Amino acid sequence: AKEKGKNTYCFYSLQMDEILQKRFEFEQSLKKAVENEEFVLYYQPIINLNNMKIAGAEALIRWIHPEKGFIPPLEFIPIAEQTGLISQIGKWVVKRALFDLGHFMQTLNGNFYVSVNVSLREFSSASFVESILSSIDNFKVEPSSLGIEITESVAMVDPQNTIDILNSLKKNRIKILLDDFGTGYSSLNYLKQLPIDVVKIDRSFIQNMTDDQKEQKIAKSLIDLSHILELKVVAEGIENEKQAELLKSFMCDFGQGYLFGKPMPKEEFLELAKKF
Ligand code: C2E
Ligand code: CA
Ligand code: CA
Ligand code: CA
Repeated sequence: AKEKGKNTYCFYSLQMDEILQKRFEFEQSLKKAVENEEFVLYYQPIINLNNMKIAGAEALIRWIHPEKGFIPPLEFIPIAEQTGLISQIGKWVVKRALFDLGHFMQTLNGNFYVSVNVSLREFSSASFVESILSSIDNFKVEPSSLGIEITESVAMVDPQNTIDILNSLKKNRIKILLDDFGTGYSSLNYLKQLPIDVVKIDRSFIQNMTDDQKEQKIAKSLIDLSHILELKVVAEGIENEKQAELLKSFMCDFGQGYLFGKPMPKEEFLELAKKF
């Protein structure tokens, strides 16, 4: 029995070694990816449901690994957060988005905006606002054409700090979007105090809306609630006409999802935008 115990221990420790080794290699290759800029930004259209025109785009990062190919953000953003690499990645995202925005503006109307996702560690870093403002300055874009998406859960970590940061962004006319709305636990009292412009209703509420009455009512009340708070609403993850029609009947302001366009490279986005 003792013998077996020892073997088991060896087995697990070997397995642990392997996991740690893999993890170490992944971190190393992510570090390299940052140095070599192995990232691209994809853009997904955000549609104004009243006139069906493109109102903006969400920038979504993609990692093109030289050997492994395409790696989705959910596989590396959490690791980037844990290792601190997110601060460099986040800065790259903002700069690239502002650079691309210059091109978009040549084709699209003046109210067009690009929103970028910001994770907790970026958002709570002391230099966050300053770094965004200096990038805006460098690229000479109109601040209101940049949107910052923070999730409800990020906003909840340090409420007063969040309010302060968002206020200074807002003071500089940067657009603020509350992402994944409905999935966190923010109180109405708190929500009321956040200087946000737009809420994005999470895809999970839209997904089953057309065949589940309860889901439908929840989606409608999230829209109504946002309007009471004088916020605009984007519904995320719209995949079919039926969902779009229902959301329009609920007075939802904007929509995003595969129905209108998947996240796509900049050039493709520009082609699509011309057709709208
Ligand atoms: P998110 O911010 O909630 O982004 C929406 C996700 O839903 C995107 O996945 C998008 O491709 C997907 N999506 C959009 N429309 C539909 C639809 O109709 N159906 C379905 N099934 N999915 C749809 P993606 O691009 O894989 O991004 C996943 C998450 O990774 C994002 O969730 C965001 O939290 C994070 N992320 C992406 N880019 C960045 C970034 O530049 N910085 C940071 N910090 N996080 C990012
Ligand atoms: Ca988002
Ligand atoms: Ca979202
Ligand atoms: Ca999400």
